[in-house]
Amino acid sequence: MKLDHSFAEELTLLGSEVKPIRLKNSRLAAFNHDLATELNLPSEWQHEIHLFKALYADDGALNRCSMAQKYGGHQFGHWNPELGDGRGLLLAETIDKQNQRWDLHLKGAGPTPYSRFADGRAVLRSTIREYLASEALHYLGIPTSRALCLIVSDEPVYREKQERAAKMIRVCQSHLRFGHFEYFYHSKQPQKLQSLFDYCFKYHFTEYTKVESPYLAMLEKIVHDTAKLIAKWQAFGFNHGVMNTDNMSIHGITFDYGPYAFLDDFEPTFICNHSDPQGRYSFDSQPGIGLWNLNALAQTFTPHLEIEQIKHALSSYEPTLLKEYSALIHNKLGLLPAASNGQVNSHIINTWLDLLAIEKKDYSATFRQLCQFDIFNDNQRLRDQFIHRERFDEWAKHYTLALTEQGISQTQRQTQMRQHNPHIVLRNYLVQQVIDRAEEGNFEMFHQFIGALKKPYEEIEAYQKFSAPPPDWGKQLEISCSS
Ligand code: AMP
Ligand code: MG
Repeated sequence: MKLDHSFAEELTLLGSEVKPIRLKNSRLAAFNHDLATELNLPSEWQHEIHLFKALYADDGALNRCSMAQKYGGHQFGHWNPELGDGRGLLLAETIDKQNQRWDLHLKGAGPTPYSRFADGRAVLRSTIREYLASEALHYLGIPTSRALCLIVSDEPVYREKQERAAKMIRVCQSHLRFGHFEYFYHSKQPQKLQSLFDYCFKYHFTEYTKVESPYLAMLEKIVHDTAKLIAKWQAFGFNHGVMNTDNMSIHGITFDYGPYAFLDDFEPTFICNHSDPQGRYSFDSQPGIGLWNLNALAQTFTPHLEIEQIKHALSSYEPTLLKEYSALIHNKLGLLPAASNGQVNSHIINTWLDLLAIEKKDYSATFRQLCQFDIFNDNQRLRDQFIHRERFDEWAKHYTLALTEQGISQTQRQTQMRQHNPHIVLRNYLVQQVIDRAEEGNFEMFHQFIGALKKPYEEIEAYQKFSAPPPDWGKQLEISCSS
Protein backbone atom coordinates (compact mmCIF):
# COMPACT_ATOMS: atom_id res chain seq x y z
CA MET A 1 0.00 0.00 0.00
CA LYS A 2 1.26 3.42 -0.95
CA LEU A 3 -0.10 6.62 0.56
CA ASP A 4 -0.22 9.62 -1.70
CA HIS A 5 -0.73 13.32 -0.95
CA SER A 6 -1.60 14.79 -4.31
CA PHE A 7 -4.07 17.35 -2.91
CA ALA A 8 -1.77 18.56 -0.14
CA GLU A 9 1.21 18.75 -2.48
CA GLU A 10 -0.39 20.19 -5.59
CA LEU A 11 -3.12 22.35 -4.03
CA THR A 12 -1.23 23.53 -0.96
CA LEU A 13 -2.72 27.00 -1.34
CA LEU A 14 -6.27 25.65 -1.12
CA GLY A 15 -6.02 24.79 2.54
CA SER A 16 -3.78 24.80 5.59
CA GLU A 17 -1.42 22.29 7.05
CA VAL A 18 -2.77 21.05 10.40
CA LYS A 19 -1.83 18.03 12.55
CA PRO A 20 -4.44 15.90 14.29
CA ILE A 21 -4.64 16.25 18.08
CA ARG A 22 -4.87 13.18 20.26
CA LEU A 23 -7.88 13.11 22.58
CA LYS A 24 -7.81 12.20 26.26
CA ASN A 25 -7.79 8.44 26.72
CA SER A 26 -8.39 7.62 23.05
CA ARG A 27 -9.50 4.09 22.19
CA LEU A 28 -10.21 2.41 18.91
CA ALA A 29 -13.86 1.30 19.20
CA ALA A 30 -14.49 0.00 15.69
CA PHE A 31 -12.48 -0.83 12.62
CA ASN A 32 -13.99 -1.63 9.24
CA HIS A 33 -12.01 -4.70 8.19
CA ASP A 34 -13.96 -5.18 4.97
CA LEU A 35 -13.19 -1.68 3.80
CA ALA A 36 -9.55 -1.89 4.87
CA THR A 37 -9.18 -5.09 2.87
CA GLU A 38 -10.93 -3.62 -0.17
CA LEU A 39 -8.57 -0.67 -0.11
CA ASN A 40 -5.54 -2.77 0.65
CA LEU A 41 -4.75 -0.71 3.75
CA PRO A 42 -2.20 -2.03 6.26
CA SER A 43 -3.87 -4.73 8.33
CA GLU A 44 -1.88 -3.56 11.36
CA TRP A 45 -4.08 -0.45 11.50
CA GLN A 46 -6.78 -2.58 13.05
CA HIS A 47 -4.62 -2.45 16.18
CA GLU A 48 -4.91 0.75 18.12
CA ILE A 49 -1.19 1.03 18.76
CA HIS A 50 -0.30 1.04 15.06
CA LEU A 51 -3.18 3.23 14.00
CA PHE A 52 -2.41 5.82 16.67
CA LYS A 53 1.25 5.77 15.72
CA ALA A 54 0.27 6.53 12.13
CA LEU A 55 -2.02 9.32 13.32
CA TYR A 56 -0.05 10.96 16.10
CA ALA A 57 3.64 10.03 16.08
CA ASP A 58 6.07 12.56 14.63
CA ASP A 59 6.02 12.06 10.89
CA GLY A 60 3.35 9.35 11.20
CA ALA A 61 2.08 7.84 7.96
CA LEU A 62 -1.25 9.61 8.41
CA ASN A 63 -0.14 13.02 9.67
CA ARG A 64 2.89 13.69 7.49
CA CYS A 65 0.91 15.87 5.09
CA SER A 66 -2.42 16.31 6.85
CA MET A 67 -4.34 19.39 5.81
CA ALA A 68 -7.60 21.25 6.33
CA GLN A 69 -9.32 22.22 3.10
CA LYS A 70 -10.89 25.60 2.51
CA TYR A 71 -14.35 25.80 0.98
CA GLY A 72 -17.57 27.78 1.22
CA GLY A 73 -21.17 26.84 0.64
CA HIS A 74 -24.76 27.88 0.21
CA GLN A 75 -26.34 27.12 3.56
CA PHE A 76 -30.13 27.12 3.45
CA GLY A 77 -29.92 29.14 0.26
CA HIS A 78 -27.50 31.76 1.60
CA TRP A 79 -23.92 32.05 0.49
CA ASN A 80 -21.39 31.54 3.30
CA PRO A 81 -17.72 31.98 2.41
CA GLU A 82 -16.59 31.21 5.97
CA LEU A 83 -16.59 27.42 5.74
CA GLY A 84 -13.88 24.83 5.43
CA ASP A 85 -12.63 21.81 7.32
CA GLY A 86 -13.28 23.20 10.78
CA ARG A 87 -12.71 19.86 12.44
CA GLY A 88 -11.74 17.54 9.63
CA LEU A 89 -8.38 16.83 8.04
CA LEU A 90 -7.43 15.22 4.81
CA LEU A 91 -4.80 12.75 6.00
CA ALA A 92 -3.71 11.04 2.84
CA GLU A 93 -4.92 9.34 -0.30
CA THR A 94 -4.66 5.68 -1.08
CA ILE A 95 -4.94 3.99 -4.45
CA ASP A 96 -6.72 0.66 -4.72
CA LYS A 97 -6.04 -2.27 -7.05
CA GLN A 98 -8.38 -0.78 -9.67
CA ASN A 99 -6.29 2.37 -9.59
CA GLN A 100 -9.09 4.29 -7.89
CA ARG A 101 -7.95 7.05 -5.54
CA TRP A 102 -9.52 7.30 -2.06
CA ASP A 103 -9.22 10.07 0.49
CA LEU A 104 -8.61 9.18 4.12
CA HIS A 105 -10.12 12.00 6.15
CA LEU A 106 -10.20 12.38 9.90
CA LYS A 107 -13.40 13.91 11.26
CA GLY A 108 -13.16 15.42 14.75
CA ALA A 109 -9.41 16.02 14.38
CA GLY A 110 -9.17 19.26 16.38
CA PRO A 111 -9.29 22.98 15.58
CA THR A 112 -8.15 24.35 12.24
CA PRO A 113 -7.96 27.86 10.76
CA TYR A 114 -11.56 27.28 9.57
CA SER A 115 -13.06 26.35 12.95
CA ARG A 116 -14.31 29.90 13.58
CA PHE A 117 -15.62 29.85 17.17
CA ALA A 118 -16.20 26.12 17.33
CA ASP A 119 -14.09 23.50 19.08
CA GLY A 120 -12.92 21.32 16.20
CA ARG A 121 -14.45 18.25 17.80
CA ALA A 122 -17.09 15.74 16.85
CA VAL A 123 -19.21 14.06 19.51
CA LEU A 124 -19.57 10.31 19.87
CA ARG A 125 -23.28 10.55 19.05
CA SER A 126 -22.80 12.14 15.62
CA THR A 127 -19.82 9.97 14.80
CA ILE A 128 -21.84 6.82 15.45
CA ARG A 129 -24.66 8.22 13.34
CA GLU A 130 -22.31 8.82 10.42
CA TYR A 131 -20.59 5.45 10.74
CA LEU A 132 -23.90 3.54 10.79
CA ALA A 133 -25.46 5.56 7.99
CA SER A 134 -22.54 5.21 5.65
CA GLU A 135 -22.51 1.44 6.15
CA ALA A 136 -26.29 1.24 5.76
CA LEU A 137 -26.37 3.18 2.52
CA HIS A 138 -23.40 1.35 1.09
CA TYR A 139 -25.02 -2.04 1.56
CA LEU A 140 -28.28 -0.76 0.07
CA GLY A 141 -26.32 0.20 -3.03
CA ILE A 142 -26.60 3.96 -2.47
CA PRO A 143 -23.32 5.74 -3.22
CA THR A 144 -21.82 7.11 -0.02
CA SER A 145 -18.65 7.95 1.83
CA ARG A 146 -17.51 5.08 4.05
CA ALA A 147 -16.30 4.76 7.61
CA LEU A 148 -12.93 3.14 8.24
CA CYS A 149 -12.81 3.39 12.00
CA LEU A 150 -14.27 4.96 15.10
CA ILE A 151 -12.12 6.35 17.89
CA VAL A 152 -13.70 7.16 21.24
CA SER A 153 -12.28 9.21 24.10
CA ASP A 154 -12.94 10.71 27.51
CA GLU A 155 -12.41 14.25 26.27
CA PRO A 156 -15.42 16.32 27.33
CA VAL A 157 -17.12 18.45 24.70
CA TYR A 158 -20.02 20.79 25.25
CA ARG A 159 -23.11 20.83 23.08
CA GLU A 160 -26.61 21.09 24.59
CA LYS A 161 -25.05 19.06 27.38
CA GLN A 162 -21.62 17.64 28.12
CA GLU A 163 -20.71 14.83 25.76
CA ARG A 164 -17.58 12.96 24.77
CA ALA A 165 -15.39 13.63 21.76
CA ALA A 166 -14.87 10.97 19.14
CA LYS A 167 -13.29 10.72 15.72
CA MET A 168 -13.73 8.71 12.62
CA ILE A 169 -11.72 8.19 9.49
CA ARG A 170 -13.93 8.74 6.51
CA VAL A 171 -13.14 7.36 3.10
CA CYS A 172 -14.37 8.56 -0.29
CA GLN A 173 -13.11 9.24 -3.80
CA SER A 174 -12.33 12.82 -2.78
CA HIS A 175 -13.68 15.37 -0.35
CA LEU A 176 -14.30 17.89 -3.10
CA ARG A 177 -17.61 19.59 -2.54
CA PHE A 178 -19.64 21.93 -4.70
CA GLY A 179 -18.60 24.51 -2.13
CA HIS A 180 -14.91 24.19 -3.03
CA PHE A 181 -15.58 25.47 -6.55
CA GLU A 182 -18.03 28.07 -5.33
CA TYR A 183 -15.55 29.47 -2.85
CA PHE A 184 -12.76 30.11 -5.32
CA TYR A 185 -15.27 31.41 -7.89
CA HIS A 186 -17.09 33.84 -5.60
CA SER A 187 -13.95 35.02 -3.82
CA LYS A 188 -12.57 35.91 -7.25
CA GLN A 189 -9.51 33.71 -7.18
CA PRO A 190 -9.56 32.42 -10.75
CA GLN A 191 -6.13 30.83 -10.57
CA LYS A 192 -7.04 28.73 -7.59
CA LEU A 193 -10.33 27.79 -9.21
CA GLN A 194 -8.40 26.78 -12.30
CA SER A 195 -5.95 24.70 -10.29
CA LEU A 196 -8.91 22.91 -8.74
CA PHE A 197 -10.34 22.11 -12.16
CA ASP A 198 -6.93 21.00 -13.41
CA TYR A 199 -6.57 18.75 -10.38
CA CYS A 200 -9.98 17.22 -11.04
CA PHE A 201 -9.11 16.44 -14.63
CA LYS A 202 -5.80 14.97 -13.60
CA TYR A 203 -7.12 12.68 -10.87
CA HIS A 204 -10.89 12.30 -10.97
CA PHE A 205 -12.32 13.11 -14.40
CA THR A 206 -9.30 11.91 -16.33
CA GLU A 207 -11.21 10.27 -19.18
CA TYR A 208 -13.01 13.55 -19.90
CA THR A 209 -9.80 15.29 -20.90
CA LYS A 210 -9.95 13.39 -24.19
CA VAL A 211 -13.37 14.66 -25.26
CA GLU A 212 -14.13 17.84 -27.18
CA SER A 213 -15.42 19.81 -24.19
CA PRO A 214 -13.97 18.43 -20.95
CA TYR A 215 -15.72 21.02 -18.77
CA LEU A 216 -19.09 20.21 -20.28
CA ALA A 217 -18.45 16.50 -19.84
CA MET A 218 -17.40 16.99 -16.23
CA LEU A 219 -20.48 19.05 -15.41
CA GLU A 220 -22.72 16.53 -17.17
CA LYS A 221 -21.15 13.71 -15.19
CA ILE A 222 -21.76 15.50 -11.86
CA VAL A 223 -25.35 16.29 -12.90
CA HIS A 224 -25.90 12.67 -13.88
CA ASP A 225 -24.41 11.18 -10.70
CA THR A 226 -26.26 13.63 -8.45
CA ALA A 227 -29.57 12.91 -10.17
CA LYS A 228 -29.09 9.16 -9.77
CA LEU A 229 -28.10 9.54 -6.14
CA ILE A 230 -31.15 11.57 -5.22
CA ALA A 231 -33.42 9.15 -7.09
CA LYS A 232 -32.05 6.44 -4.82
CA TRP A 233 -32.66 8.51 -1.68
CA GLN A 234 -36.26 8.97 -2.78
CA ALA A 235 -36.81 5.31 -3.58
CA PHE A 236 -35.32 4.10 -0.29
CA GLY A 237 -37.00 6.80 1.80
CA PHE A 238 -33.81 8.55 2.90
CA ASN A 239 -33.92 12.17 4.04
CA HIS A 240 -30.44 13.73 4.15
CA GLY A 241 -31.55 16.85 5.97
CA VAL A 242 -28.72 19.31 5.30
CA MET A 243 -28.29 19.61 1.55
CA ASN A 244 -26.15 22.73 1.77
CA THR A 245 -23.78 22.95 -1.18
CA ASP A 246 -20.80 22.34 1.12
CA ASN A 247 -22.33 18.94 1.87
CA MET A 248 -22.66 18.00 -1.82
CA SER A 249 -19.93 15.81 -3.27
CA ILE A 250 -18.80 16.17 -6.88
CA HIS A 251 -18.82 12.35 -7.01
CA GLY A 252 -22.55 12.08 -6.50
CA ILE A 253 -22.22 10.29 -3.19
CA THR A 254 -24.09 10.77 0.08
CA PHE A 255 -21.83 12.95 2.12
CA ASP A 256 -21.64 14.72 5.50
CA TYR A 257 -24.31 13.02 7.51
CA GLY A 258 -26.16 15.12 10.04
CA PRO A 259 -29.72 14.80 11.34
CA TYR A 260 -30.67 12.38 8.53
CA ALA A 261 -33.54 9.91 8.74
CA PHE A 262 -34.90 6.94 6.91
CA LEU A 263 -38.63 7.49 6.80
CA ASP A 264 -40.70 5.53 9.24
CA ASP A 265 -44.29 6.56 8.41
CA PHE A 266 -44.54 7.72 4.84
CA GLU A 267 -44.94 11.46 5.02
CA PRO A 268 -43.66 12.97 1.77
CA THR A 269 -43.18 16.37 3.40
CA PHE A 270 -41.22 14.91 6.31
CA ILE A 271 -38.44 17.14 7.68
CA CYS A 272 -35.73 15.29 9.58
CA ASN A 273 -33.74 18.42 10.41
CA HIS A 274 -35.26 20.27 13.34
CA SER A 275 -33.32 23.40 12.39
CA ASP A 276 -35.24 23.51 9.13
CA PRO A 277 -38.77 24.60 10.07
CA GLN A 278 -39.49 25.78 6.51
CA GLY A 279 -38.70 22.33 5.17
CA ARG A 280 -36.17 23.48 2.61
CA TYR A 281 -34.57 20.03 2.92
CA SER A 282 -37.71 17.99 3.52
CA PHE A 283 -37.93 14.55 1.94
CA ASP A 284 -39.92 15.59 -1.11
CA SER A 285 -37.86 18.76 -1.63
CA GLN A 286 -34.67 16.79 -2.19
CA PRO A 287 -34.96 16.39 -5.98
CA GLY A 288 -35.59 20.11 -6.46
CA ILE A 289 -32.81 21.09 -4.08
CA GLY A 290 -30.40 18.80 -5.93
CA LEU A 291 -31.03 20.87 -9.05
CA TRP A 292 -30.73 24.15 -7.11
CA ASN A 293 -27.34 23.01 -5.83
CA LEU A 294 -26.20 21.96 -9.29
CA ASN A 295 -27.13 25.42 -10.56
CA ALA A 296 -24.90 26.91 -7.87
CA LEU A 297 -22.07 24.62 -8.93
CA ALA A 298 -22.67 25.24 -12.63
CA GLN A 299 -22.08 28.96 -12.16
CA THR A 300 -18.46 28.17 -11.39
CA PHE A 301 -18.13 26.60 -14.84
CA THR A 302 -19.03 29.90 -16.57
CA PRO A 303 -15.38 30.81 -17.29
CA HIS A 304 -15.30 27.70 -19.48
CA LEU A 305 -18.83 27.14 -20.76
CA GLU A 306 -21.47 29.11 -22.63
CA ILE A 307 -24.81 29.59 -20.87
CA GLU A 308 -26.48 27.34 -23.44
CA GLN A 309 -24.02 24.54 -22.67
CA ILE A 310 -24.69 24.89 -18.95
CA LYS A 311 -28.43 24.86 -19.52
CA HIS A 312 -28.02 21.78 -21.66
CA ALA A 313 -26.04 19.97 -18.94
CA LEU A 314 -28.57 20.88 -16.26
CA SER A 315 -31.50 19.88 -18.47
CA SER A 316 -30.51 16.22 -18.18
CA TYR A 317 -31.02 16.28 -14.40
CA GLU A 318 -34.76 15.77 -14.27
CA PRO A 319 -35.06 13.01 -16.90
CA THR A 320 -32.09 11.15 -15.38
CA LEU A 321 -33.58 11.33 -11.90
CA LEU A 322 -37.05 10.28 -13.07
CA LYS A 323 -35.72 7.39 -15.11
CA GLU A 324 -33.65 6.07 -12.22
CA TYR A 325 -36.46 6.55 -9.72
CA SER A 326 -38.93 4.86 -12.01
CA ALA A 327 -36.66 1.84 -12.45
CA LEU A 328 -36.14 1.53 -8.70
CA ILE A 329 -39.79 1.89 -7.81
CA HIS A 330 -40.83 -0.60 -10.49
CA ASN A 331 -38.41 -3.07 -8.93
CA LYS A 332 -39.79 -2.40 -5.48
CA LEU A 333 -43.29 -3.17 -6.70
CA GLY A 334 -42.20 -6.13 -8.81
CA LEU A 335 -43.42 -4.44 -11.97
CA LEU A 336 -41.64 -4.80 -15.28
CA PRO A 337 -41.12 -1.40 -16.88
CA ALA A 338 -42.51 -2.41 -20.30
CA ALA A 339 -43.39 0.49 -22.56
CA SER A 340 -46.79 -0.96 -23.41
CA ASN A 341 -48.11 -0.82 -19.87
CA GLY A 342 -46.16 2.25 -18.75
CA GLN A 343 -49.24 4.30 -18.00
CA VAL A 344 -50.92 1.50 -16.10
CA ASN A 345 -47.77 0.98 -14.01
CA SER A 346 -47.49 4.68 -13.24
CA HIS A 347 -51.05 4.68 -12.03
CA ILE A 348 -50.41 1.68 -9.79
CA ILE A 349 -47.23 3.23 -8.40
CA ASN A 350 -48.82 6.61 -7.74
CA THR A 351 -51.95 5.22 -6.13
CA TRP A 352 -49.85 2.90 -3.94
CA LEU A 353 -47.71 5.82 -2.74
CA ASP A 354 -50.90 7.85 -2.15
CA LEU A 355 -52.31 5.01 -0.09
CA LEU A 356 -49.14 4.84 2.03
CA ALA A 357 -49.14 8.60 2.51
CA ILE A 358 -52.84 8.96 3.34
CA GLU A 359 -52.63 6.19 5.91
CA LYS A 360 -49.14 7.16 7.09
CA LYS A 361 -47.97 3.58 6.64
CA ASP A 362 -44.41 2.67 7.50
CA TYR A 363 -42.57 3.17 4.22
CA SER A 364 -40.04 0.33 4.25
CA ALA A 365 -42.05 -2.20 6.26
CA THR A 366 -45.13 -1.89 4.05
CA PHE A 367 -43.07 -2.30 0.90
CA ARG A 368 -41.46 -5.35 2.46
CA GLN A 369 -44.89 -6.80 3.28
CA LEU A 370 -45.94 -6.20 -0.29
CA CYS A 371 -43.27 -8.69 -1.39
CA GLN A 372 -45.65 -11.40 -0.18
CA PHE A 373 -48.55 -10.14 -2.28
CA ASP A 374 -50.41 -13.16 -3.60
CA ILE A 375 -52.24 -12.76 -6.88
CA PHE A 376 -54.27 -15.91 -6.18
CA ASN A 377 -55.46 -14.91 -2.75
CA ASP A 378 -57.15 -12.11 -0.84
CA ASN A 379 -54.01 -10.78 0.93
CA GLN A 380 -55.96 -10.47 4.14
CA ARG A 381 -52.99 -9.65 6.37
CA LEU A 382 -51.81 -6.81 4.19
CA ARG A 383 -55.36 -5.59 3.62
CA ASP A 384 -56.01 -5.43 7.35
CA GLN A 385 -53.18 -2.95 7.70
CA PHE A 386 -55.23 -0.32 5.91
CA ILE A 387 -58.11 1.69 7.31
CA HIS A 388 -59.58 2.34 3.88
CA ARG A 389 -60.04 -1.29 2.88
CA GLU A 390 -62.08 -0.52 -0.25
CA ARG A 391 -59.33 1.75 -1.42
CA PHE A 392 -56.79 -1.02 -0.90
CA ASP A 393 -59.09 -3.50 -2.68
CA GLU A 394 -59.43 -1.21 -5.65
CA TRP A 395 -55.68 -0.79 -5.84
CA ALA A 396 -55.04 -4.52 -5.35
CA LYS A 397 -57.38 -5.30 -8.25
CA HIS A 398 -55.29 -3.24 -10.66
CA TYR A 399 -52.04 -4.52 -9.19
CA THR A 400 -53.13 -8.16 -9.49
CA LEU A 401 -54.07 -7.61 -13.10
CA ALA A 402 -50.76 -5.96 -13.93
CA LEU A 403 -48.77 -8.71 -12.20
CA THR A 404 -50.79 -11.42 -13.93
CA GLU A 405 -50.23 -9.89 -17.34
CA GLN A 406 -46.49 -9.78 -16.79
CA GLY A 407 -46.44 -13.55 -16.85
CA ILE A 408 -43.53 -14.17 -14.50
CA SER A 409 -44.02 -16.72 -11.77
CA GLN A 410 -45.23 -15.50 -8.40
CA THR A 411 -42.28 -17.00 -6.53
CA GLN A 412 -39.83 -15.40 -8.90
CA ARG A 413 -41.46 -12.00 -8.50
CA GLN A 414 -41.62 -12.29 -4.72
CA THR A 415 -37.95 -13.27 -4.55
CA GLN A 416 -36.96 -10.36 -6.78
CA MET A 417 -39.01 -7.93 -4.74
CA ARG A 418 -37.29 -9.04 -1.56
CA GLN A 419 -34.00 -8.01 -3.15
CA HIS A 420 -35.26 -4.46 -3.62
CA ASN A 421 -37.15 -3.90 -0.38
CA PRO A 422 -34.90 -3.98 2.68
CA HIS A 423 -35.95 -5.91 5.75
CA ILE A 424 -33.38 -4.08 7.87
CA VAL A 425 -33.51 -0.30 7.80
CA LEU A 426 -31.42 2.19 9.75
CA ARG A 427 -34.20 3.62 11.84
CA ASN A 428 -33.49 6.52 14.14
CA TYR A 429 -35.00 4.86 17.21
CA LEU A 430 -32.52 1.99 16.79
CA VAL A 431 -29.63 4.37 16.17
CA GLN A 432 -30.56 6.14 19.38
CA GLN A 433 -30.45 2.85 21.30
CA VAL A 434 -27.01 2.13 19.89
CA ILE A 435 -25.86 5.60 20.93
CA ASP A 436 -27.28 5.30 24.45
CA ARG A 437 -25.37 2.06 24.98
CA ALA A 438 -22.18 3.33 23.38
CA GLU A 439 -22.23 6.37 25.64
CA GLU A 440 -22.07 3.90 28.52
CA GLY A 441 -19.12 2.20 26.88
CA ASN A 442 -21.06 -0.72 25.43
CA PHE A 443 -20.53 -1.20 21.69
CA GLU A 444 -22.15 -4.62 21.37
CA MET A 445 -25.34 -3.33 19.80
CA PHE A 446 -23.32 -1.08 17.48
CA HIS A 447 -21.41 -4.07 16.11
CA GLN A 448 -24.53 -6.20 15.86
CA PHE A 449 -26.38 -3.51 13.97
CA ILE A 450 -23.48 -3.16 11.53
CA GLY A 451 -23.73 -6.92 10.97
CA ALA A 452 -27.46 -6.58 10.24
CA LEU A 453 -26.99 -3.59 7.94
CA LYS A 454 -24.56 -5.58 5.83
CA LYS A 455 -27.37 -7.93 4.84
CA PRO A 456 -30.39 -5.65 4.63
CA TYR A 457 -32.47 -7.91 2.41
CA GLU A 458 -32.10 -11.07 4.47
CA GLU A 459 -34.25 -12.25 7.34
CA ILE A 460 -31.69 -13.52 9.81
CA GLU A 461 -32.95 -14.69 13.18
CA ALA A 462 -30.18 -12.99 15.16
CA TYR A 463 -30.97 -9.65 13.55
CA GLN A 464 -34.75 -9.72 13.81
CA LYS A 465 -34.68 -7.13 16.57
CA PHE A 466 -33.44 -4.59 14.01
CA SER A 467 -36.32 -5.14 11.63
CA ALA A 468 -39.25 -3.74 13.56
CA PRO A 469 -40.79 -0.38 12.72
CA PRO A 470 -40.58 2.03 15.64
CA PRO A 471 -42.92 1.92 18.57
CA ASP A 472 -44.85 5.18 18.99
CA TRP A 473 -42.19 6.70 21.24
CA GLY A 474 -39.58 6.03 18.57
CA LYS A 475 -41.26 7.94 15.76
CA GLN A 476 -40.10 11.39 14.78
CA LEU A 477 -37.40 11.51 17.43
CA GLU A 478 -35.89 14.92 17.93
CA ILE A 479 -32.43 14.50 16.48
CA SER A 480 -30.10 17.17 17.69
CA CYS A 481 -28.37 18.95 14.84
CA SER A 482 -25.36 19.89 16.90
CA SER A 483 -22.65 17.45 16.14
P1 AMP B 1 -21.40 20.57 9.10
O1 AMP B 1 -22.65 21.09 9.73
O2 AMP B 1 -20.73 19.49 9.87
O3 AMP B 1 -21.57 20.25 7.65
O4 AMP B 1 -20.36 21.80 9.17
C1 AMP B 1 -20.59 23.07 8.62
C2 AMP B 1 -19.34 23.91 8.83
O5 AMP B 1 -19.09 24.10 10.22
C3 AMP B 1 -18.07 23.31 8.26
O6 AMP B 1 -17.25 24.35 7.82
C4 AMP B 1 -17.49 22.60 9.45
O7 AMP B 1 -16.11 22.39 9.35
C5 AMP B 1 -17.83 23.55 10.59
N1 AMP B 1 -17.98 22.87 11.88
C6 AMP B 1 -19.01 22.09 12.28
N2 AMP B 1 -18.83 21.66 13.54
C7 AMP B 1 -17.64 22.15 13.93
C8 AMP B 1 -16.88 22.07 15.15
N3 AMP B 1 -17.32 21.39 16.19
N4 AMP B 1 -15.69 22.71 15.17
C9 AMP B 1 -15.24 23.43 14.13
N5 AMP B 1 -15.91 23.55 12.97
C10 AMP B 1 -17.10 22.93 12.88
MG1 MG C 1 -20.56 19.73 6.17
